[in-house]
Amino acid sequence: MRICVVMAMHAEAEPVVEMLGLRAVDRPPWASHVPMRLYEGKTRTNTIDLVVNGLDPDTGIDCIGTQAATASTMLGCEAFAPDLVVSAGTCGGFACRGGEIGTVYLAHDRVWYHDRRVPLPGFDRFSRGGYPCLPLDSIADDLGFSSGVISTGDSLDLSPADARRIDEVGAHVKDMEAAAVAWIAGLFGAKFTAVKVVTDLVDGPHPTEQEFLENLSMATDRLAEALTRFLREISDADLKGSAPA
Ligand code: SAH
Repeated sequence: MRICVVMAMHAEAEPVVEMLGLRAVDRPPWASHVPMRLYEGKTRTNTIDLVVNGLDPDTGIDCIGTQAATASTMLGCEAFAPDLVVSAGTCGGFACRGGEIGTVYLAHDRVWYHDRRVPLPGFDRFSRGGYPCLPLDSIADDLGFSSGVISTGDSLDLSPADARRIDEVGAHVKDMEAAAVAWIAGLFGAKFTAVKVVTDLVDGPHPTEQEFLENLSMATDRLAEALTRFLREISDADLKGSAPA
């Protein structure tokens, strides 16, 4: 199958590129003035296109968050018509739901937004997201990953209103990209999943940004290993699972 992997940060992508032996594409099939970078490669049965959000030309830092993730996924889906889109990266975890630093999660059930609040009929549901993930719990079991509900927002910190929405859906994973990637994948009729490794515990005693930086290198190594195993394991038969009810 054809798989488009979308990642936000170069630090997250580099170990993946190395471990999967991906090749940098000098001229991606999109306008040269957008920062999104492309790497390509193959496993025995799958063709992999990895789109990395790239660096913001103004600030020079990685384009994290839903805005760039939306654009990257759109470019990848238009260019490659993938069967499966994977949002891969680091995330915050929840000790109260069994999360630990370094836990590897595969997306379970649906992926939500926790920071889009529009209390108007119809718009409330649109704003919450709730996009379906391909049912892959048995692959998660086989690979020794945890299955987790993901909630996405554009801030690294946690406001009380965000926390309430995260608790409502019982999220195991807090990130800044997955829901945006899932929405575009759905528009293109592609299946969606995410592989996320915990860098920091949202409900732990340490400040998120400090814990994130301390654990980033360990988490990105684990992510590369997990994503490589996942991309080698997944096959056409796994695409047939039905969406969550
Ligand atoms: N200061 C960091 C910024 C990283 S922001 C830097 O070195 O550039 C966090 C990134 O990791 C986002 O892409 C997000 O998806 C993920 N992430 C890790 N922990 C998170 C958390 N607790 N909440 C939200 N996103 C988190």
